[in-house]
Amino acid sequence: MESIIADVAIDCPGRDCFSYRVPAPLQGQLELGDCVDVEFNRRRLRGFVVEMGLRVEPTAYALKDIIGKRPGVQLPAALLRLIRWGAHYYRCSLGEFLAGAVPAAVRAGTAVTPQVTIRKVAGYSGALTPKQAAALAALPDEALSLGAAQELAQCDGALFKRLAARGAITLVEERTILERRLSAREERFSLSPEQQSAVDAVAANLAARSQATYLLYGITGSGKTLVYIELALQVIASGRQCLLLLPEIALTPQLAARLRSRIPRTAVWHSAFTDGERALLWREVAAGSFDLVLGTRSALFAPLPAIGLIIVDEEHEQSYKQESVPRYHARDLAVVYATQLGVPIILGSATPSLETVHNARTRRYQVLSLRSRPLGGALPTPVVVDMREECHRQKAQAQISQELLTRLRGVKTRGEQAIILLNRRGWSPVVMCQACGEALMCTNCAISMTYHKAANQVRCHYCDAARAMPRTCPACGVGPMTTSGMGTEQLVHALAQEVPGLRIQRVDADTVSERQGHAKLFQAFAEGRSDCLVGTQMVAKGLDFPRVTLVGVLGADRSLAIPDFRAGERTYQLIAQVAGRAGRGSTPGTVVVQAFDVQAPALVCALEHQPRTFVDAELKLRKEYGYPPYGGLVRFLWSGESAAQVQSLAEKQGDILRALLRGETLLGPGPAGLALLKGLHRWHGMIKAPSRGAVQAFLDRLVAQGGLKSSSTVRFAIDVDPYVTS
Ligand code: ADP
Ligand code: ZN
Repeated sequence: MESIIADVAIDCPGRDCFSYRVPAPLQGQLELGDCVDVEFNRRRLRGFVVEMGLRVEPTAYALKDIIGKRPGVQLPAALLRLIRWGAHYYRCSLGEFLAGAVPAAVRAGTAVTPQVTIRKVAGYSGALTPKQAAALAALPDEALSLGAAQELAQCDGALFKRLAARGAITLVEERTILERRLSAREERFSLSPEQQSAVDAVAANLAARSQATYLLYGITGSGKTLVYIELALQVIASGRQCLLLLPEIALTPQLAARLRSRIPRTAVWHSAFTDGERALLWREVAAGSFDLVLGTRSALFAPLPAIGLIIVDEEHEQSYKQESVPRYHARDLAVVYATQLGVPIILGSATPSLETVHNARTRRYQVLSLRSRPLGGALPTPVVVDMREECHRQKAQAQISQELLTRLRGVKTRGEQAIILLNRRGWSPVVMCQACGEALMCTNCAISMTYHKAANQVRCHYCDAARAMPRTCPACGVGPMTTSGMGTEQLVHALAQEVPGLRIQRVDADTVSERQGHAKLFQAFAEGRSDCLVGTQMVAKGLDFPRVTLVGVLGADRSLAIPDFRAGERTYQLIAQVAGRAGRGSTPGTVVVQAFDVQAPALVCALEHQPRTFVDAELKLRKEYGYPPYGGLVRFLWSGESAAQVQSLAEKQGDILRALLRGETLLGPGPAGLALLKGLHRWHGMIKAPSRGAVQAFLDRLVAQGGLKSSSTVRFAIDVDPYVTS
C-alpha cells in the first residue's frame, strides 16, 4: 500500500531518521523542515521532517502516524540542507545536529513570553521605602528589560511591581528584544580608498548574485567593521539579510552598538537569553523582522529567510569550533553555506588562520587588503622584556617588569588608558606544600588547582571543582601550603600597590557575569571610569578604545609550550591581536611584552609586524609534518570511569582503524594528554590523511564496516578537523 511517508530526524546518536505516516488531516499541511511530535519507543518526542513523499509502506511492521505539527517552527530549506551536509561531514546523526542547531526552547515550542520593559515615570515624587528609592535611582532614563533592570538594581521582580503600583515606573509588555544598549557614535565616515576598493570588489559580486569567498586581510584598527556595514547595507537594500559571526560574546555589545547605529534592525544572537526570549527571537528572525543577525558560532543556524551575505569576523578564532556534538567549525561551515546559497562570504582577520592564508595563496579565496589605519595611527612600538634578565636585575622571581610599571605610571599621569593581558585567572596557578613539595591536584582531572584569594578557595579550571584552601598539606599532613606563579587576581593587587591611584578593572571569567557582564565592564572603561583593564584573552580581541596607548603582555611565550601543532600560530595571533588594541586613536601606542624566550619566531614576527615571515616558516613546518592545511585530521576519543575499560576499547577499536588504513597514518591510540578529565579517563588516536577528502573517504570506509560505537561504559567520539589534540 502506498501512503505519504515522512522521515523524521530525532535527537539520538547513530541513526538518522525514522519513518512515519502522514495522517490525512496533516496532508498538504506538512512541509520539509517542520517540527513534529511523534511516538518513539512509547515516548512522545519531537523531530524535524527531513524527507517526505508517496512510498510503499513496509510490510514487516506498521508505521505510526505523525501525532501533530508544532506551529511556527519551520526550518528554512537552505538551513536544513546545510545541517544535512554538516551531519555527514562531522559524523553525527541528523537529529543530533538539529538538536545542536535549533535551540531547545524553539524545538520545545516554548511559549513566547513577551518581554517586560521598564520605564521610569518622569518627575515622580511620591513616597518610597529606602529600598524602592535605591532601586529607582539605579535605573537609567531609557527603557530596559526587566532582566537587565533586576541586574542593575540588584533586586527582584516583586519590587518593580510595587514601584509600578505606586506609579514610579511603567511596566510594558513588548514583543521585541530590548537590551541595555551601549551608546556608540554613529559609524558613518567616508571610506578610505582601501576600504572603498574592498567594498567595490564584493559589491560587484553582490550585484551579479554570484558566489566568492574573500579574505578581508586588514591590520588591527584598519576599519574592517565599516566595510562590513557598507556591504550589509547594500544587501539589505536588495531585500535580503546579512549574517555576521564573531568569535566571542564579549565583543558583541561594542560591535552591536556600532552596527545598530547604521542598521537598526540588528538582532544579537547570544547564549544568555532566557528560553522565552530565544524562542521569540528565532521566530522573529524567521519572519524576516531583522536585517542583520550578529552572534557567535550558533548564530550560523539563525533561520534568516533570505541570506545575501555572510561575514565571519576574526575568522582565525578557535572558538568557532564547537567542542561537543555536533563538533562543527562555524567558519568552515559558513563557507559551505555561502557556496550552497550562492552568496559571497567574507572572512575577516588581521591574523588569518593558516588554512585561510593557504586558500588565499592557492587562489581559492580572493584577498582584500587593508594595510593602514584610517585614523592615521601607526601600529604600536614593541618593547620586549627578557624576564631572565629581569629576574636577575630584581634579584627575585620577578613577575612584573620595571619597564611595564614605569610606562603604566606614565599612562596614569597623562590620563591615558592601558590593557594588560595575563592569560591565567585566579591568584596563583600552583598551590603546593612547603614540606613535601606536592602540588595540589584536582581529584577529577590531571590538573593542578588554582588559588582564588578573595574566595579563599582552590579551584579546578577544567571541572570547576572548588574547596576551601587547606591549611596543611592533604598529602603529607604536615607542611603549610604556599602558592607560586601569578594570575589576574594577584596581578591586579600587585599593580594597585605599584601604581597608586590607578583604577583597575579585572576582566576574566570570574568578574564577568553570564548576562551582559562584559558590557558593563567595557562601558565603564569606554566612559573613562577606569584606567586599566587587566584580563585573560577576553581583553585581547576586537576591542576598540581610542585612548588606549599601552598594552602589556605577561608570560607571552607560555602558550608555546602547549604540545599542539597550532601552538605557534595561536601565540602569534594572540600577541598580534592584543598589541593591536594600542594606539587606535591619535596618540601612538606601545606594547610591552614580557617573555623568557624572547627569540621565539611567533613572538618576534607578531611584534615586528612580519606576518609573511611567520606564515612562510609555519607553513613549511606544516607541510613537512603533513598537518593542516596540507593534510586532514580526524581524532578519536574514548572516555570512561574505568581506566582499564577505556584502554581495552581504545585498543580494540584502534585495531579496526588500523585495518582500514590505505596510506593514511594512525597516531595512537594512547592515553590523551589530559589523561583524566572531569573524572573520566581518556584515550585518543588520530588519523592523518593527505587531505580532508581523504579523511572523509577513510570515514566512509569505517561506516561501511559498521562504524565504531560506544560501549555501555566507554564513550566513543569522533572529532573531524580537531582543534584540541591533547
Ligand atoms: P578593525 O575591526 O579592522 O580592527 P575597526 O573597524 O574597529 O577596525 O576600526 C578602527 C577604528 O577606525 C574605529 O574607531 C572606526 O570607527 C574607525 N574608522 C574606520 N574606518 C574609518 C574611516 N573611513 N574614517 C574614519 N574612521 C574610521
Ligand atoms: Zn577538575
